[in-house]
Amino acid sequence: VLAAGSILYLDGVTVSFDGFRALNSLSLVLAPGELRTIVGPNGAGKTTMMDVITGKTRPDKGDVLFDQNIDLTRLDESAIATLGIGRKFQKPTVFEHLSVFENLELALKTNRSTLATLFFRLSGQQAEQIAATLQRVGLADKARQQAGSLSHGQKQWLEIGMLLMQDQRLLLLDEPVAGMTDAETEATAELILDLARDKTRSLVVVEHDMEFVRALGAKVTVLHEGSVLAEGSLDAVQANPKVVEVYLGR
Ligand code: ADP
Repeated sequence: VLAAGSILYLDGVTVSFDGFRALNSLSLVLAPGELRTIVGPNGAGKTTMMDVITGKTRPDKGDVLFDQNIDLTRLDESAIATLGIGRKFQKPTVFEHLSVFENLELALKTNRSTLATLFFRLSGQQAEQIAATLQRVGLADKARQQAGSLSHGQKQWLEIGMLLMQDQRLLLLDEPVAGMTDAETEATAELILDLARDKTRSLVVVEHDMEFVRALGAKVTVLHEGSVLAEGSLDAVQANPKVVEVYLGR
């Protein structure tokens, strides 16, 4: 019943590694089109949570439902990706020897079956889709440049662009501004806010950079020892004594 209307619903999710609980009865509900920021100290379980959502790790216990009634715990990673759940890891993984445009083209092609890919040529509409994405991620003037020559921040944006080629309904971003300059961090906040404005996809952003978290202005979930410690606006969670203790009290 609680899953009604949600795009992502986690309840009582528990993951143990050799008896150690990386997730301990974790619950999280995400609305369609919602932008959510996840924070928490190292070892809080943020990566394990993403692994559970994408099918990389199977929980010992608990519900993981996508779009109200799709049980993600029964699906493997590729089946989950096909549902429209995309993940961006911390380190950018673009094809360095291809151009920026070709990276996006490849992302569009791998959306299709292998046989279709062999015979697939870009239609005018698809070329336009790539051009619009280049514009959106701020790489319109870099289309012909080799991806390997981009700055660290530009590679991150290209990778987000590659995910956008696949019509994701849920995007998981792991520390998207790690290693970025201040200017790149600001531009990334603008990009994520722009993506959230569409309301066609939900976004989960794991991040340590509190200025960036503030710029996103989204609801914040604080994880600690594998479960939710606090949830609310950044101001509210930062004022929460339990959160203060976890971040400052040791
Ligand atoms: P975070 O991403 O918030 O830093 P993680 O999800 O990576 O936290 O890790 C949560 C806890 O689970 C950590 O204590 C980590 O050492 C442990 N852990 C994560 N993955 C494994 C694994 N494959 N085997 C053993 N322990 C793990």
